[in-house]
Amino acid sequence: MPRSILSLPYSALERELVADGLKPPHARTLWKALYRDPATAFLPPLQRWVAEHLGPGKRFTHEPLVEVLTDLKSSDLQTRKFLLGLEDGQKIETVLMGYPGRFTACVSTQAGCAMGCVFCATGQMGFVRHLRAEEIVAQVLHVQSALRQRSAVPALLRNLVLMGMGEPLHNYDNVIAALQIIADPRGIALAPSRISISTVGVVPGILRLAEEKQPYNLAVSLHGATEEQRAALVPISRRWPLAELIAACRTYGETTGRKIFFEWTLIAGTNDSPAQAAQLAGLLSGLDAHVNLIPLNPTGGFSGMATGTAAAEQFQAVLMESGIPSTIRQLRGIDVAAGCGQLKAAQRSS
Ligand code: SF4
Repeated sequence: MPRSILSLPYSALERELVADGLKPPHARTLWKALYRDPATAFLPPLQRWVAEHLGPGKRFTHEPLVEVLTDLKSSDLQTRKFLLGLEDGQKIETVLMGYPGRFTACVSTQAGCAMGCVFCATGQMGFVRHLRAEEIVAQVLHVQSALRQRSAVPALLRNLVLMGMGEPLHNYDNVIAALQIIADPRGIALAPSRISISTVGVVPGILRLAEEKQPYNLAVSLHGATEEQRAALVPISRRWPLAELIAACRTYGETTGRKIFFEWTLIAGTNDSPAQAAQLAGLLSGLDAHVNLIPLNPTGGFSGMATGTAAAEQFQAVLMESGIPSTIRQLRGIDVAAGCGQLKAAQRSS
């Protein structure tokens, strides 16, 4: 089976070309054609290499790794959710969110998820498999091509969040390999500071990010400020308890000097009281932290309700009094089930 050329970082592609008698600059041209401008012209040696090695049944393939099954737009037209089919028939979802002058893509890192967070549609479907690095890269290429088709003026993909289906740190090697390609300035060139890896608390992955000094943002989903409260919502916290998770975050902060984003899904009557906000503030004391407060998005398998605006603002006020900055996130794409925790590879007609 030929390898996908999208799985090769720049240096590996360059080695392959040089081993075949080409010059290092040919890698730059091929990389540009793959990631920036499909109309890039090749000089004859590269044309010959492409004809010999790239294509169905050859040494490498650049066949599309994802096939669009559905393309849903939210009623305000600011959010698009793509249901994408993979080569083995698995389905994943990728979301594109528009903001004034910029776009953010939310990509999946696994088909399904093993973490089982009770309010999450992906968690409710269970784990299927890890995505390969090239399947993560292909989602970014897909949204870029959707942006190119949308307008003659090239629209800017500014931010990338790994918050789609799956737990990125459960698929660490493929995620980091994909990001190395996505952030490479010679290709897609998304700045690492505009890429966020989200985790529900996979402690060894957080420590590895710190040890390797990976340059990406880290977002940690907490949802509960006591062991008991968190374990009721996030079953994986029985494996990596809250105290261990916060200790890993402190190590990460000290080693990298980076701010950590903490995600908190606000569920009415469950984790949205002023007392719980005070507990959260205590937990994060001394950390360079920013809390994103996300009113619960509805999913079929969980009966909880979203916190109302007044209670969310009260929660935020308690954090503010303790010096913890926070943002109440706008609800996005709820009518097409593209909000946080709503992704599930069910095919719907557009
Ligand atoms: S919230 Fe994230 S980690 Fe939890 S089940 Fe859903 S996809 Fe997995």
